[in-house]
Amino acid sequence: MTQEQTSPGGPDLTRGVSPAELIEDKLLGHVGDQEILLVRAGAEIFAVDAHCTHYHGPLADGLVVDGSIRCPWHHACFDLRTGEATRAPAFSPLSCWRVEQRDGKIFVQVKLEPKTQSKPSAKPPADTPKRIVIVGSGAAGFAAAEMLRRQDFGGQIVMFGEEADGPVDRPNLSKDYLAGSAPEDWIPLKPENFYAEADIDLRVNTGIAKIDPQAHHVVTATGETVSYDRLLLATGAEPVRLPIPGAGLPHVHTLRSLADSRAIINAAQGARRALVIGASFIGLETAAALRARDIEVHVVAPEKRPMERVLGPQMGDFVRALHEEHGVIFHLEDTVVSIDGRNATLKSGGVMEADVVVVGVGVRPRLALAEGAGLALDRGVVVDTHLETSVSGIYAAGDIARWPDPYSGESIRVEHWVVAERQGQAAARNMLGQREVFDAVPFFWSQHYDVPINYVGHAEQWDEIVVDGDINARDCLLRYKHKGRTLAVASIYRDVASLQAELAMEQGAAV
Ligand SMILES: Cc1cc2nc3c(=O)[nH]c(=O)nc-3n(C[C@H](O)[C@H](O)[C@H](O)COP(=O)(O)OP(=O)(O)OC[C@H]3O[C@@H](n4cnc5c(N)ncnc54)[C@H](O)[C@@H]3O)c2cc1C
Repeated sequence: MTQEQTSPGGPDLTRGVSPAELIEDKLLGHVGDQEILLVRAGAEIFAVDAHCTHYHGPLADGLVVDGSIRCPWHHACFDLRTGEATRAPAFSPLSCWRVEQRDGKIFVQVKLEPKTQSKPSAKPPADTPKRIVIVGSGAAGFAAAEMLRRQDFGGQIVMFGEEADGPVDRPNLSKDYLAGSAPEDWIPLKPENFYAEADIDLRVNTGIAKIDPQAHHVVTATGETVSYDRLLLATGAEPVRLPIPGAGLPHVHTLRSLADSRAIINAAQGARRALVIGASFIGLETAAALRARDIEVHVVAPEKRPMERVLGPQMGDFVRALHEEHGVIFHLEDTVVSIDGRNATLKSGGVMEADVVVVGVGVRPRLALAEGAGLALDRGVVVDTHLETSVSGIYAAGDIARWPDPYSGESIRVEHWVVAERQGQAAARNMLGQREVFDAVPFFWSQHYDVPINYVGHAEQWDEIVVDGDINARDCLLRYKHKGRTLAVASIYRDVASLQAELAMEQGAAV
């Protein structure tokens, strides 16, 4: 999914269009060279930018729900009245345009001034925090800080991150950026001046070594103490390292940070052959990116089919064939037992020479701080429906959080970009005293060459997979069912159906 510049399509909305031209409540038109979407929601008609502010997804193909529109690509949501990006992964609002109806026609001519977002009531409650500390400057941490300011929180925000860079578009690091087709300026989630302007004290390169819940402070790795009134833990996950000889060699990489992605790009310059260990999402996205750089790519993984555990055998076979079409060579049901110089020895006995090795064998949540602070843990940090941990005033979000998921009825922990951001947003509101239940349906996407796979819901196991459409034709929707109930849906180019499944799960309806 690349950001495309298209010439404006549809009718000139300054000349007026008939309401009958709104097919299925939407009409794509333009004002000058600006593409505008007309949307009917109930009795009203709105005019907004036609493209999502996240990755420029076409909102004309999105879903209108209760005065809002959802993007077909990564399920961001915008309020049609104000343009506000109400749900991640978009953060910037859409521009809104004035809609005039006269002589039986709809005219759009004037862009409206951006509306100030919904403000809390005039006087903040007495226990409004003065300083909120966020540990982790990734998806959840960033989304929380941004939402705190959007909620007009006037106190201090201090956000710590161990990485050298501020919040970045992590999913891109194994996709377009690694492939060399995304420019540098796509990668920061916000330009550098955003943090100063929003008065967010972002401290990069600063690890937190300890939390003292009794004293209400955190201690940095260099010994500085910073007190908090509310604390958000969003420390994410770290790549699992292989316990094999040679795993620490300089040409053996893992991929989590922008620095990691850059190191792989550097290593790829002039490389002839790459070895990817692990057929996970990150492993295979890396394989695709390296193929785009014309490097021979071998994937070694213990499973029979890539991604079978998450997506099932049918999608696993498809993903394998897709990568093979692009020249990836698989060595499945095999592992690497040692790396000696450029030579990797396989369990099956072969030796493979590779200039660069990328290990993508999964991640583990970073729980040391939570554990040290005595927070309840259960394969993650246990949080309640409001994302609060077992210690009052300390919240957790993102890859570390295990939360009660209302749709599956289970406590789950996932490693999804959009979930982390939405949890960050909900935690921000809850740290300000709103008792919002986190009930967003999990969503993730993965991209392999020109094929996006979208996934809604959560199915750790299933007894049936129902396939609508044709996976090989890249036009399909798979339902993962357990005892007759659809727990999750994966799709390729069935974006509206994916959005509809998300909505049905939110409403507790059958999918
Ligand atoms: C290359 C890549 C591609 C991905 N692609 C997709 C995708 O396509 N779709 C999808 O849904 N998901 C994807 N993911 C997963 C997604 O990025 C994660 O689920 C998401 O980033 C989790 O957000 P988080 O805030 O919990 O953690 P992170 O974004 O990892 O942020 C954690 C932050 O905490 C900091 N930190 C940790 N410990 C400390 C400490 N002690 N002190 C200070 N700071 C600390 C880290 O430095 C980091 O900044 C991808 C992940 C990677 C690595």
